[in-house]
Amino acid sequence: MVQSAVLGFPRIGAQRELKKVTEAYWSGKATVEELFKVGKELREKNWKLQKDAGVDIIPSNDFSFYDQVLDHSLLFNVIPERYSKYNLPAIDTLFAMGRGLQRPATESSPAVDVTALEMVKWFDSNYHYVRPTFSKNVEFKLNSTKPVDEFLEAKALGINTRPVLVGPVSYLYLGKADKDNLELEPITLLEKLLPVYAELLAKLKEAGAETVQIDEPILVLDLPVEVQSAYKVAYEYLVSEAAPKLFLTTYFGDVRPNIQSIKGLPVAGVHADFVRVPEQLDEIVAALSPSQILSVGIVNGRNIWKANFAKAIEFVSSAIAKVGAERVIVATSSSLLHTPVTLASEKKIPAEIKDWFSFATEKLAEVVTIAKAVTDGPESVAGEFAANAKSISARETSSITNDTAVRERVGKITEDQARRKSPFGVRLAAQKKALGIPLFPTTTIGSFPQTKDIRIFRNKFTKGEITAEEYEKFIEKEIETVVKFQEEVGLDVLVHGEPERNDMVQYFGEKLNGFVFTTNGWVQSYGSRYVRPPIIVGDVSRPGPMTVKESKFAQSITKKPMKGMLTGPVTCLRWSFPRDDISSKLQAQQLALALRDEVQDLEAAGVYVIQVDEPAIREGLPLRAGAERDDYVNWAVESFRLATSGVDDSTQIHSHFCYSDLDPNHIKALDADVVSIEFSKKDDPNYIQEFSEYPNHIGLGLFDIHSPRVPAKDEFVSRIADILKVYPQENLWVNPDCGLKTRGWTETRASLQNMVDAAKEFRAKY
Ligand code: GLN
Ligand code: ZN
Repeated sequence: MVQSAVLGFPRIGAQRELKKVTEAYWSGKATVEELFKVGKELREKNWKLQKDAGVDIIPSNDFSFYDQVLDHSLLFNVIPERYSKYNLPAIDTLFAMGRGLQRPATESSPAVDVTALEMVKWFDSNYHYVRPTFSKNVEFKLNSTKPVDEFLEAKALGINTRPVLVGPVSYLYLGKADKDNLELEPITLLEKLLPVYAELLAKLKEAGAETVQIDEPILVLDLPVEVQSAYKVAYEYLVSEAAPKLFLTTYFGDVRPNIQSIKGLPVAGVHADFVRVPEQLDEIVAALSPSQILSVGIVNGRNIWKANFAKAIEFVSSAIAKVGAERVIVATSSSLLHTPVTLASEKKIPAEIKDWFSFATEKLAEVVTIAKAVTDGPESVAGEFAANAKSISARETSSITNDTAVRERVGKITEDQARRKSPFGVRLAAQKKALGIPLFPTTTIGSFPQTKDIRIFRNKFTKGEITAEEYEKFIEKEIETVVKFQEEVGLDVLVHGEPERNDMVQYFGEKLNGFVFTTNGWVQSYGSRYVRPPIIVGDVSRPGPMTVKESKFAQSITKKPMKGMLTGPVTCLRWSFPRDDISSKLQAQQLALALRDEVQDLEAAGVYVIQVDEPAIREGLPLRAGAERDDYVNWAVESFRLATSGVDDSTQIHSHFCYSDLDPNHIKALDADVVSIEFSKKDDPNYIQEFSEYPNHIGLGLFDIHSPRVPAKDEFVSRIADILKVYPQENLWVNPDCGLKTRGWTETRASLQNMVDAAKEFRAKY
């Protein structure tokens, strides 16, 4: 019998129970007992759900109160002294490491003030993990029995789970050296760490675990040789009589370049992501020994589309033909952590479209059905199969997914459309004449504080409690306030403040054809922060202007240049669930054409500075160097240029980037006239060099918008002076790191005033 397996299930709860209780706990409104109780209930619910769906191999230890990688740091005692010194209860140490902790002294405990550990993106997903951080005196030991406890908890319910652990090589490689220990390469700690893994595995075996899922996702990255060779050391050590069988799992990519690391490992089986890379089947099969099992990841853990049963069954059958049914498992491609919990709570998605979707709960039935089909023959699932075929073909032939006008327009894109009329030098001269921008121009990134008032009005409007006219009036008043404020402070290039926008992608999605939105489709981004990505369901087009009214109004009430504000094609794509039936490139082109029209409409309306934000451009970069990555860079850059190149030389195109280590060459290729980059937290003075070759104009973010702290004027002056050692003064812009929407007005005014005053000081000197 071919078994079905799930690699992990969302832990947030269908009604975001986890967020509610953790935030209540943080604010002192829930006790630790209540917190643990909700955790236990969520685990039980998820196990039962999977059991009832008929899943054979159900995970445990996929639950976490914050992040599963951080759980491992607590488990193995990888706790820098700045956290351990407070002797907090384990759960509070976990939260302190995840999000920092600041709390005044009480009679029984001293004051706590510690910042969070670094948080980084989990591969190419929108999930973030807390980076294991190894300080000088790290001493591995088994600090808790969480995986064992959760295994036993499930066992008590009559469910024999497969516990999930992050494997030792990935755990170390995904970590970093702490400040006190910078020369350390974490992978060199392997031999010290292995005995602790062995101890944990022995405990799991004693508790009755037969197999452990050991995640080694870094096998889809380009790895240094010492990491590639660490696999043999690690797994020969860990596989023993005293340990459960180990099932090695990878996901999100291609393991072929590291296949030598897997070959010959004494593990019970290997899981790979065949949704992403079906072409890797033969090489993986060839690397397995005759007794090793192949887990075929075929139900997408990263998307919301129904699996195509016919195709999935065909693929699994081809794997069976190669290794035999007794050696195949049908599985989700990755953990389902990256998908919303259930479709059941979606009441507003049109039925025609909802029929195309499958969220985590629905995906359970998919793995089970595919496993049954390959075990008992497709007739055994005839009903499910027919329904699935109907949904798939309805989607394929729907006019929503095939808009001929859009396809034709994309087909006619020319290279010229993605090139400005003249080179930067010529454009700059025209812009200087048209815009009258001084040296050291000051600007902001777009949003201004989104006060409670704004949110209340927006909600009222969405609910139909106020008329469109009333809402419009309110927005105009907000814009007026923000414009007046910027004039008072003395900024040079103004923005309208984005009061009408809930979110920088959703706002545009709602105005475009081709998107739908969920009411409850939350996915964990990090800790208690969840996002609800829009879904691109069809060909994208723009039925009408999206931002012109607000920008035009804003420009009409000031003599200073007003900067129009759009979200770029790649960011719209990356922060949505994309389609899986057409390429990312084609989706980016469709978005780009829609934005191109908007850019031109803004220009026609008298808005001559236009910023197109692309903060997500870096995160879309494929995990490995090579053809796929080069291809991505090409189409990502082209789509930005397509969106922005339809304007006159005298119209100034800005772009903005945050959150990531950018490659200056990619930014350069966009050919924006001005770019602003999050920069204030880079305290390595060498970083200032990073963009020094940038040929166009640039603003390195001068203050952190995540903090209410107000930098003094002198701080701005000295930061600008540092930058000026490297950059020519005529290229420099003066701006914060990012938008100010999460800030309050008081600190916003003070910080911007200091920033403008500093710029004026430099202006006077040159
Ligand atoms: N223009 C957007 C804002 O200011 C940019 C947001 C972002 O880069 N994350 O809010
Ligand atoms: Zn930003």
